[in-house]
Amino acid sequence: MHESIKVSVRPLVEYAFRSGSIDARFRTATTMHEGTKLHQYVQKQYGEQDQKEVPFEMEFEYDDLLFYIEGRCDGLLKRNDSYVVDEIKSTSLPLEEINENSYAVHWAQAKCYAYMAMMKYDQATISVQLTYIQSETKEVRTFTNSYSLEDLSHFISEVIQRYTPFARWKVDHHHRLIDSSRSLTFPFETYREGQRKFAGSVYKTVQEGATLFASAPTGIGKTMSTLFPTIKAIGEGHGQKIFYLTAKTITRETAQEAFKMMEDKGLIATSVTITAKDKVCFKEKTICQKDYCEYADGYYDRINEGLLDLLRNETRITREVLEGYAHKHRLCPFELSLDAAYVADAVICDYNYIFDPRVSLKRLIEEQKKQTTVLIDEAHNLVDRARGMFSAELHKSAFLQLKRSYRSTNQEISNAASSINKLFIDYKKSAQSGYVVQTDVDEELLVHLDTFVSVCEKELLLQGNDEELLDVYFTCQNFIRIAKLYDHHFFTLVQAGKSEASMKLFCFDPSNQLSRMRNGFRSTVFFSATFSPLSYYQNMLGWEDDDYQVTIPSPFPEENMSVYIAPLSTKYREREETLEPLIDLLENVVTKRKGNYLFFFSSYGYMERVYEAYTDREIDTDTILQHQNMTEEEREQYLETFTSGRSKSLAGFAVLGGIFSEGIDLKGDRLTGVVVVGVGLPNFDTERKLMKERFDLDGKNGFEYTYVYPGMNRVQQAGGRLIRSETDKGILVLIDSRYVEKRYQQLLPFEWRNFDLLTPEKKIQ
Ligand code: SF4
Repeated sequence: MHESIKVSVRPLVEYAFRSGSIDARFRTATTMHEGTKLHQYVQKQYGEQDQKEVPFEMEFEYDDLLFYIEGRCDGLLKRNDSYVVDEIKSTSLPLEEINENSYAVHWAQAKCYAYMAMMKYDQATISVQLTYIQSETKEVRTFTNSYSLEDLSHFISEVIQRYTPFARWKVDHHHRLIDSSRSLTFPFETYREGQRKFAGSVYKTVQEGATLFASAPTGIGKTMSTLFPTIKAIGEGHGQKIFYLTAKTITRETAQEAFKMMEDKGLIATSVTITAKDKVCFKEKTICQKDYCEYADGYYDRINEGLLDLLRNETRITREVLEGYAHKHRLCPFELSLDAAYVADAVICDYNYIFDPRVSLKRLIEEQKKQTTVLIDEAHNLVDRARGMFSAELHKSAFLQLKRSYRSTNQEISNAASSINKLFIDYKKSAQSGYVVQTDVDEELLVHLDTFVSVCEKELLLQGNDEELLDVYFTCQNFIRIAKLYDHHFFTLVQAGKSEASMKLFCFDPSNQLSRMRNGFRSTVFFSATFSPLSYYQNMLGWEDDDYQVTIPSPFPEENMSVYIAPLSTKYREREETLEPLIDLLENVVTKRKGNYLFFFSSYGYMERVYEAYTDREIDTDTILQHQNMTEEEREQYLETFTSGRSKSLAGFAVLGGIFSEGIDLKGDRLTGVVVVGVGLPNFDTERKLMKERFDLDGKNGFEYTYVYPGMNRVQQAGGRLIRSETDKGILVLIDSRYVEKRYQQLLPFEWRNFDLLTPEKKIQ
């Protein structure tokens, strides 16, 4: 009996014929939309009898495998009694630089369609035509060859033969995945309270191809509660692939551990972790060209062998595993991680690989997306991250600089930069050393940017190594791309200083963009311990009416955490006045019970001021202070100081919203108490101020959307460091007079609401 495997022509030939080196020299990429338009331009010239976008399919037996091959050729042209298969390719290269043998993979694709056409129309010979269309000039160059049925039969056999080792791995692996996921049992002895409900909601969501917003508390085991049901659903035929998205490296490790636990229970699934290119690169600089980097040189000649070796021998493909195989086969570790990601069952990576229009995984075809579930960990982070991904900014100085530096070498670039610089002079005048806000994009600027981008492309294709020009080029490309997305959820901020001016297209509400991106996928699960209020996060992350939501209460006994509120002002202008009473409070906390404490503050400035006063008081504790831009090593050292059984209490000073207020896990006696000073409101800068106004105009409560909710999210994250398991106990002290206001109190997690008030007279006993 034959095992069957379905494959499209394009990935088939790309696998079978890839060769050569990674070459990250400058290339202009036509977007899918532009590519389609160029294809249509050629297809419009077809005659009456010619057909376009012709679907083909066929079966092909090879050894014990039965291949179902399908594809769609661009054109099937009728010439007298015979056929010509036309394959159209758009290119930004000058056509003189393309010859008949430039791209073996293009011929291979066309020859596959030609073979299918011969079978379908019973032809003994057929012609194959490659049509290259230049994206700028729309000039066309064609190459034609004729083939007999025998030629193409040999050819198809060769393609399949090359693909077969990979196909066999895919088929075998698929069986192992399905069988093992069906028999997989929950990797913990029991479900924690609420965990079964959460996992059940995720299963139902994946099964139905829906979207879920889940507010699930710290300690419930969110990673397993989402991965386990998704794997089970895959076992039952609901989807084929998982993207597990996180904002932080540490949470990526938790996902890897979850796969290890499921593997220990018998699961056979491939998971790949993608680490940023500049972190995994083996070279000093990421110059991805064969002359500089031996891992780029001949990458595509070796990738099939390296990838198969990796897939046959590993299931949990972490950064370390990738590095090992990359060295063994002399492959770029980053590209290898991407190649592995396209075939893996699960991909663990940052949000941007799915959502950021600049870096998303472009080879992830629609068909694969429709079978993919996206699990978004700590999704409250996605609001601000998405604002960054969908915003774009230009600075006047960049164009002034290019105008000058290209004056004698490339007049076109100098002129194009100069006209943009002129526009910025006007913007600067209008902003009068301050700022102005607009609610649209300046069309004139876009016209000038288009010109600038096309003259840059010409220069960069000739010599692509001017980093300054490349930088500005990509910034402009991004600006144009974001301008196309501009809607009522954006505003344009023009700011002017003494000599500088900038324009930012600011996406203050990313909900439209996020829902557009996620709609391509089978299912999406947004989950967080601090989705509070849930409606705010639903609004910002693109809630749709038929989405599901679930809220799971904390699984830990309430009495394990003592919560106190000290209504002491931490407002900026009153900080000096309340400094001594604040130190009294901190002293009261650390001296009542020996242990390790984390004190969180809304800014570095405030934290350092309090640290100074605290150490001046000579309270009998060790202290440790967070610094800006700490290295990974320093971060580790900071956390390692929090050991259980220390001889003296420890007071760790840290900032809200920083590296120690989220994603860290200090279990048991490693953390005795958390003190949060302030309500965590973000800076009152121009962007925030305007965001507030826009939310108000949209009928939302601008102050709450801009300041209170993001601030209280930081507070909840910081407080969430305290209780990490059933046996953890500790105290939480919230210091700020606003905590007694209803607006803030109603945002406290349910288990924090049973608090005691601290006053100068009433201290912690
Ligand atoms: S190893 Fe570094 S320089 Fe070489 S191809 Fe990979 S990322 Fe580029």
